[in-house]
Parts: sequence; structure tokens; C-alpha cells
Amino acid sequence: MKENQRLIAVVDKPKCQTCQLCISVCPTDSITIKDGKAEISDTCIACGACVAVCPNEAIELKMTVSKIDE
Ligand code: SF4
Ligand code: SF4
Repeated sequence: MKENQRLIAVVDKPKCQTCQLCISVCPTDSITIKDGKAEISDTCIACGACVAVCPNEAIELKMTVSKIDE
């Protein structure tokens, strides 16, 4: 088992005001609105564009660790 670390953008949902600015800047179309809040899929390449544009500081880049079978 190998550990895979990767940076991904994560939405702090209570802070999201659903302005959709992040969706308009994402180069990989990784952001959708789900249940009235932005949600980021694992196609995110952690470019940081959404973090910079969010007026509510609702998005952060976080390191995630997942285990992969070899
Ligand atoms: S960090 Fe970049 S690729 Fe990831 S969701 Fe935000 S804008 Fe899209
Ligand atoms: S830019 Fe921020 S407040 Fe606007 S939809 Fe995206 S996460 Fe929500």
C-alpha cells in the first residue's frame, strides 16, 4: 500500500454564498453547485484560482492523503 499526497481545493460550505465566481475561473471545470453550495471534484489541479477569487474566503487548498493499492 502506497500513500498518495495531493493538494486539492476544499469549500468551507457555511461560508459559501453561491456567487459562482469560482466556477467561472476554474480551468478544469471542477466546481459545481450542489445543495446550494459550491462543491469541488477530484479533477481539481490546485491552481488556486478559485481561492483567489472567492469573496468570502470559503475555499482553501488542503493536503489530502489517500492510500492506493499497487
Ligand atoms: S484550485 Fe483551480 S482547478 Fe481546483 S477547483 Fe479551484 S480553480 Fe479549479
Ligand atoms: S466563489 Fe466562494 S462564495 Fe462564490 S460560489 Fe465559489 S465558494 Fe461559494
